[in-house]
Amino acid sequence: MTVANAKVSPEELKELSEFWAEEGDALTIYVQVATPSELSHREERISAKEKIQQAMGSLKGKSAADRADVQRVLETIGAMKGNGGLAKVIFACHRKGVWREFDVAGAFAPRAEAGTAFALGPLLAQEQTKRYCIALADRNRARLLLLEAGAITEHSQLLDEEKEKIRTTGTSKSVHLERQKEEEARRHFQFLAEHLLHFYEHKDYDCLMIGCRDETWREIEAELHPELKRILVGRFVVDPGLATAEEIQEKAQAIVDGGDRKEEERLVERVVGGAASKGLGAVGLKDVMESLEKGEVRTLLLPAQNGQLEQSVSLCEHCGHLEAQELTKCSLCNGRMRRFAHAEEALLRHAVGRSIEIRRMHWTKLPAPDGIAAWLRFRAEVNTPQALAS
Ligand SMILES: [Zn+2]
Repeated sequence: MTVANAKVSPEELKELSEFWAEEGDALTIYVQVATPSELSHREERISAKEKIQQAMGSLKGKSAADRADVQRVLETIGAMKGNGGLAKVIFACHRKGVWREFDVAGAFAPRAEAGTAFALGPLLAQEQTKRYCIALADRNRARLLLLEAGAITEHSQLLDEEKEKIRTTGTSKSVHLERQKEEEARRHFQFLAEHLLHFYEHKDYDCLMIGCRDETWREIEAELHPELKRILVGRFVVDPGLATAEEIQEKAQAIVDGGDRKEEERLVERVVGGAASKGLGAVGLKDVMESLEKGEVRTLLLPAQNGQLEQSVSLCEHCGHLEAQELTKCSLCNGRMRRFAHAEEALLRHAVGRSIEIRRMHWTKLPAPDGIAAWLRFRAEVNTPQALAS
């Protein structure tokens, strides 16, 4: 029985990146079946599994992929249920005795291919996912949920015990009790806010969202520490007692998507504008490669789907030098050049260890025809006033 690894370590990634199969029988599979909390996308995910099964069928006939590998992949995928919401990633080369299987968190487009190298691009371009804490509250209740990479989990038990203590029970309308209720409610929101700050300071999440009724918002807001207000990305109206996880996720995800979209649009605008004014932007494969070579790139902008850039690029396996043309020896260090059918694969391998941020664009189209761009730290040949003006 194969036990799949929970994640891919940098050492494993390095080892996989050095693997080369001249015969073109290095097999790569990415498949994601279903995330339990993403019920609405369930059919989509199941068809992803079928898609891979079909792709494997055609790989069997056309590619150099070994039949034993193809058979094993089909059996592995066939036996997959939800896989705990994780994606299955397989790298295999029967001839060289390689079979590596990983269960990885994150969202991956289905992919099945055989080539001279393993397709590591999707793993290398995996974005750091933000963790959103969602706090729901009314005057009696408080709930805590965590939204990460499209999956929501409830952690209200962390507050439950304390919640019991401050629950109001009185039915009397006396002035004294009314005032007492006010004070209890305030302490309840204060308690919630203090715990939210505590969890944030312990790095349990990155951004905050509040779900409440309109009339309670001001009371909650009044108790939030400035640090919490800084990381507050949105608020939505909900009945904290009745809301289901699905309803909460839908509302929270809309806020996440809206924020991501805006951020992306700003970034693309900045990069495209920068490229046009010879400022801090590069657009198109040729310019992006040039900027990478000069160490100018801060952020590499790629399309959401993998491998759309159907241009071959050579990469020196020793120094990471990039060349558009096919070369066997590196013109800089004389190292061996490897030819990658997808430019993205070469660029991402080049970016490893160079402090370059990778961003996939989910909402915004990058300029044609290459659909690739970069935001630069500086521009080697421009003077400072020009750089500042961009
Ligand atoms: Zn080199």
